[in-house]
Amino acid sequence: MPVHIVDHPLVHDALVVLRDKRTPPEHFRRAATRISVLLAAEALREAPHTNVIVETPLGPAHGRQLKADVVVVPVLRAGLGMLDAVLELVPNARVGHIGLQRDEVTAVASRYYSKVPAGLEQSYVLMIDPMLATGGSAVEALTLIQAAGGRHVSLVCIVAAPEGIAEVERHHPDVSIYTPVVDERLNEHKYIVPGLGDFGDRLYGTL
Ligand code: URA
Repeated sequence: MPVHIVDHPLVHDALVVLRDKRTPPEHFRRAATRISVLLAAEALREAPHTNVIVETPLGPAHGRQLKADVVVVPVLRAGLGMLDAVLELVPNARVGHIGLQRDEVTAVASRYYSKVPAGLEQSYVLMIDPMLATGGSAVEALTLIQAAGGRHVSLVCIVAAPEGIAEVERHHPDVSIYTPVVDERLNEHKYIVPGLGDFGDRLYGTL
C-alpha cells in the first residue's frame, strides 16, 4: 500500500499552527482547511480527466477537466474539519458520512452513523480523517466504503502514527494513505505523540 508523504512547505506551515497548543479554534479551523486543500489536491493528482477545448475571449484553448466521480467521506466528527476544503476543490463531489465513537478507555471504535453513496465501483473516494492513530476507526470506515463498492480509495489524514499505518496496511493493503507526517508513537491513551491533541475538541472548542 503506498503511503504518500505530502512534503510541501505550505503543508508544514499549516501543520505548525495545528500543533501549537496556543492556537484557538478559529485559527485551528482555518489551518485545517488550508492543509486539507493541499493534501486533497495531492490525493487527486492521478484522478482521471477529459481533454476539452474551451473558448476564451481570444479564441480556443486546450484544457483538461476532471472526469472522475469524486466521493468524499469524512469520519465524524473530526473529518468534518477537512470537508469544506475538498468541496472547494471538487464542488460536485458527493459526500458520505461515517460516525465512529472511540471508547475513551479501550480506544475501540464503534459505529453510530453511516450514510455512504452506493455504487462506488467507478468513483474516486477520499476518506478524510485527520488523525490516523490506532487505525481502528480507519479500518472500520474503510471496510464500510469497500462494502459500498469503493475500489479506488484514498485515506487523507493530517498526522499519522506508525501503528495506524500498519493497521490500515494489514486490513486494506489497496488503500493509499496521504499524510504530511508520521509521528513517533501512541501514548497510553492512544493519542499520537507529539501529534496535536484531540483534533475534534480543538476544532470545535470542546476541550
Ligand atoms: N484522535 C485525535 O484527535 N488525536 C489523537 O492524537 C488521536 C486520535
